[in-house]
Amino acid sequence: MIVWLRKAHTEEQLAEVVRRIQASGCRPDVSAGTEGTVVGLIGDTKRVDENLFLELPWVERTIRISRPYKLVSREYQGASRRIRVGEVVIGDGSVTIMAGPCSVEGMEMLIPLAEACMEAGAQILRGGAYKPRTSPYAFQGLGREGIRCLVEARRRTGLPIITEATGSHRHMGPDGQREERTVLEEVVEHADILQVGTRNMKAYGFLEEIAQRTAERGTPVLLKRGESASLEEFLLAAEYIVLHGNPDVILCLRGLRGGESTRFLRYAPDIGAIPVLKNESNLPVIFDPSHATGDRRYVEAVALAAVAAGADGLMIETHLDPERAWSDGQECVTPETLARIVSEARKIEGVRSDAVVRARG
Ligand code: PEP
Ligand code: MN
Repeated sequence: MIVWLRKAHTEEQLAEVVRRIQASGCRPDVSAGTEGTVVGLIGDTKRVDENLFLELPWVERTIRISRPYKLVSREYQGASRRIRVGEVVIGDGSVTIMAGPCSVEGMEMLIPLAEACMEAGAQILRGGAYKPRTSPYAFQGLGREGIRCLVEARRRTGLPIITEATGSHRHMGPDGQREERTVLEEVVEHADILQVGTRNMKAYGFLEEIAQRTAERGTPVLLKRGESASLEEFLLAAEYIVLHGNPDVILCLRGLRGGESTRFLRYAPDIGAIPVLKNESNLPVIFDPSHATGDRRYVEAVALAAVAAGADGLMIETHLDPERAWSDGQECVTPETLARIVSEARKIEGVRSDAVVRARG
């Protein structure tokens, strides 16, 4: 439920609303916007009587949110959320380009690649240091060394970095000694955006922990859709992060299992989910055409379709020598292709209507 206060209310009157919310067993979430002050009730509002608020003359109206997800819904917050990362604003109507390798393979590989991505128009550098691999025998990422490479690439290029936290377990150092810090702590300390992979979308305890740790530092979280999660489940996973303290969540679509997946395409690209998510929620939506297709021949077409459908950004796996990439080489594009995708995406960005982008609410 949301309580709207009349414009000319006093601090005392707001405090009374807050007090009544707390007395009803809910948590108040106050936001003062240009259209006045609204107070959300977080918790079980089923038994809360709206008249408790409507009887106060300084309350204009109350609204019950019909969706199971509350804080991330358009019903709750009509305006689209803009997320600032350094100089970049995600969700302002433009297309944010994130690019970089699937996995970081070392300093000599990452630095020239990061520079090439930047020249091709990337605004954020992606790269996995901790890799969630289906096989326990596959390359698991360089771990702490991978993070060190990303930090150095950021220092050289100025690009903010996004990387995945695979869990909150302690990990082994290169000498086989136990590290003091957990993977999550390590990633939170260095990443400008923390990525939650498709495999962790339903790790609810982990999502809560991520929310708390990233909120302390004001780090946004990019949440990937589970490979067979419904959109409602996806939004509820985002709700966990917002409810536990971090409102800066970026939704990322990356294809679904089923349909064409496995034969021609690694996953089924879920482009139709872009307008749905933008209608249902106020969070920015990024599309990952690399994992969605699993084939570099199709990355460009699907990326541009996602932009046309209203995506707030793209995340594209890029490699200087895709054939030799340590992971996901088949879906990595070269910086030349990335540059072409960016230039085409900018043209489409320029002709998208407000109705499609929904950047202004
Ligand atoms: C990735 O982006 O590196 C990744 C592992 O993607 P996903 O979680 O979508 O499989
Ligand atoms: Mn990958």
